[in-house]
Amino acid sequence: MKLRIAIQRSGKLAEGSIALLKKCGIGFSNGTGKLRAEAEDFPLEIFFIRDDDIPDYVADSVADIGIVGENILAENPKRVEVVEKLGFGRCRLSIALSRLDKFDGLDSFNGKRIATSYPNILGRFFAERGIEADIHEISGSVEIAPSIGLADAVCDLVSSGSTLFSNGLREVETVMESQAVLIRRPGIDGETESILEQLLFRLRSVRAASQNKYILLNAPKDKAGEIARLLPGMKSPTMMPLAEEGWVSIHSVISQHDFWEVVDRLKQAGAEGILVLSIDQMIA
Ligand code: ATP
Ligand code: ZN
Repeated sequence: MKLRIAIQRSGKLAEGSIALLKKCGIGFSNGTGKLRAEAEDFPLEIFFIRDDDIPDYVADSVADIGIVGENILAENPKRVEVVEKLGFGRCRLSIALSRLDKFDGLDSFNGKRIATSYPNILGRFFAERGIEADIHEISGSVEIAPSIGLADAVCDLVSSGSTLFSNGLREVETVMESQAVLIRRPGIDGETESILEQLLFRLRSVRAASQNKYILLNAPKDKAGEIARLLPGMKSPTMMPLAEEGWVSIHSVISQHDFWEVVDRLKQAGAEGILVLSIDQMIA
């Protein structure tokens, strides 16, 4: 019995999806043009397909799980369940105008033509705000639509904004934020479900690890208590004496999110020789 996963063959989610499985200790060969692979050391079969087809594969039970952007699910909801946000493939669906056009708020889109590959999401967004725009669905190269006179504005996926910029466009409104998520089908049988549980256990430990850092620092003994309070750690920080009298080494885990703020406070509290390491796995 094998768990079957569908991931993007090539594109913006492909690398992140493969990297995530590899970090979970799942090895497989993914030569270019391959459509299918079997993991070497985990009961997993991998399908490499177009991202748009992933929800269908999962809803139709061709695969049990898949990795896809939230934007794809929002545009075409399918009978699949989101199990977990994966923290990569982050982007936003944004409305953009020519840099030369003035923007007077969303109302100015009334009666305007907007090109997008996401007509359903954009249609809902405008409907909720009582705006009647003419949504023009196109499937690729949305960003050139204004310059060729096809539309007054576009609604497209953006991450850094450099594609918009190089096409003379500027972002004026975010319609939705998106990231890669793990989806599953309903009705997975017991044995396959337990393989999924094992995979989720690994995924969560990899995710937890990527959200945390291992920190080591030296501190004078009389400051150690104050410094330790800044570092909650998994239980409480480890404290060890240094060879030099009056000094200790303190080790702990801190969240990536609070990292810079905590580092500043540690320095102010007298910490020295701060080392920060990434963590591969974190088992709660
Ligand atoms: P496919 O050939 O698989 O259909 P595609 O061209 O539709 O590929 P990509 O451009 O590779 O798709 O984007 C795949 C997903 O990556 C998007 O649906 C979105 O969730 C995510 N993504 C992250 N950043 C960006 C970005 N800057 N532009 C577009 N998509 C992005
Ligand atoms: Zn696609």
